[in-house]
Amino acid sequence: MPSHPVQPRAARDVATTPMRSIDPRTGSVLGTFEDMGPATVARRVTRARELQRDWAALPLRERGRHLLRIRASLVAAGPDLTRISAEETGKPVATAYYELFAACAMLTWAARNVERALRPERRPSYPVVSKRAWVEYAPFGVVGLISPWNYPIGIPFQTLPYALGAGNTVVLKPSELATLTGLRLVEAVNAAGIELAQVVTGAGRTGEALVRAPVDALSFTGSPGTARHILRAAADSLTPVVLELGGKDPMIVAPDADPYQAARAATAAAFLNAGQTCMSTERAIVCAPLHERFVRHAADLARNVRVGPADDSQVGPLTRPAQLDVLRSRIEDAVSKGATIVAGGRERRGLGHGTYLEPTVLDHVTAAMDVYHEESFGPILSVVRARDLQEAVALANDSRMGLTASVFTTERATGLRLAHGIEAGGVNVNDAMLGAAMAAVPFGGTKSSGYGRLQGTEGFRAFSQSRAITVDRFRWTPAMISLMFHRRRHPSARMLQAGLWALFGRNGRRQPR
Ligand code: NAD
Repeated sequence: MPSHPVQPRAARDVATTPMRSIDPRTGSVLGTFEDMGPATVARRVTRARELQRDWAALPLRERGRHLLRIRASLVAAGPDLTRISAEETGKPVATAYYELFAACAMLTWAARNVERALRPERRPSYPVVSKRAWVEYAPFGVVGLISPWNYPIGIPFQTLPYALGAGNTVVLKPSELATLTGLRLVEAVNAAGIELAQVVTGAGRTGEALVRAPVDALSFTGSPGTARHILRAAADSLTPVVLELGGKDPMIVAPDADPYQAARAATAAAFLNAGQTCMSTERAIVCAPLHERFVRHAADLARNVRVGPADDSQVGPLTRPAQLDVLRSRIEDAVSKGATIVAGGRERRGLGHGTYLEPTVLDHVTAAMDVYHEESFGPILSVVRARDLQEAVALANDSRMGLTASVFTTERATGLRLAHGIEAGGVNVNDAMLGAAMAAVPFGGTKSSGYGRLQGTEGFRAFSQSRAITVDRFRWTPAMISLMFHRRRHPSARMLQAGLWALFGRNGRRQPR
């Protein structure tokens, strides 16, 4: 049952100028969308609430079947959806397709596992032997899903299949930089035959209106600064929030690793999507014996990356051109404090309207530099030298953030040992970024990278409220609560203490006199 009453119909919003979606590769306007205010947002939430009851009334198996219909609808919308996303963000169409593959995998796994993850569960009624107990998983009601622009197809589907599977409806607030993708995505979800998703469009004001609408639970992916605003707004209604924030993800390269393979993975994970990935490898922490070889390979690989607006490029423009100034100042700060640029480091000009930073490798990065601590969100790989594995782990953990991490080693045992010591929500041994693509594996961060988990059984549970139910084990048992309260006399403290000892106090020892 929704925890909030249906909102009274609010007044109309004052009409504002429509917002524009711009292709960062060409500067051309792709389309316009409404800058929605609180009244429009409240109406969308009310609509989602009205539709939620019927959806939640469907058996889990039926919900699972419908998730597969959504998948089919998404596949049919594939060419359209990926084109719009590539146009709005500047990413190669192939990258948009990778997101769509991940989205379909999430839907598939959620469809096949919703029954297992959310069916009522028997629990021991201990210590009340006269009762039976079980847990049911009930939906929250309406889940608000506030998304960033960098993976506008993939990120909503880290929440959507699981929140829907749990019996909620969803109101998506796509980023103002990828709104046309969000609109097309919601159209595809609803084209499967049940109106399960609403969309609200606009910038921060619209997002805040969604939080205050109020929804029953929130899934937010974005920056830590926005997360603080959202938590303040959510505090009024005590709305629970799952937070997926940024990262400063390390890759440890152990002395026994293959430096070329490690450099290939580090550059791929640093430059994919022009480095605009929350779990980009931003710091390669390389053990001393491999340091020089790793840097040489990373620099060669970075210099050979295809940069440009064409669809076969590997690195497109920065989706937010203003980010170039941030990246430039990070590079200047690092160089002024002793780092060396071994590849890239400059803006790539002559590629039309778009703003491009050459894939950049910085060596001799230290904790004194901004680039060591602050998320770059651009194609910069920082190389940090470590004396040994012990120092490498300490450096990896020397961050406010802890989203994901990688370890490169030829010894699986070393990989596992290091993985256990790293403060992150996920660790990939001999790879990077993979956890986010695995539908059954929980995804989320530690420290300032957020809390709560998306995907997997944890993802279903994040958007469910557990409800504990107890019933009598035998036919004629009196209510325990009555036995405790309605007595002519309480048992004496001595008797109760003896009972306490009998049940819990022994541990092999005798009761003291
Ligand atoms: P952002 O925080 O600026 O915006 C994210 C969303 O929040 C947008 O839809 C925006 O309109 C909305 N918003 C802005 N102000 C709001 C407010 N006051 N109330 C409610 N909503 C508001 O982030 P961004 O620039 O779109 O994305 C980049 C950031 O997202 C980076 O820090 C990146 O690391 C992070 N990110 C994290 C993950 C993850 O899964 N951990 C994934 C992708 C991106």
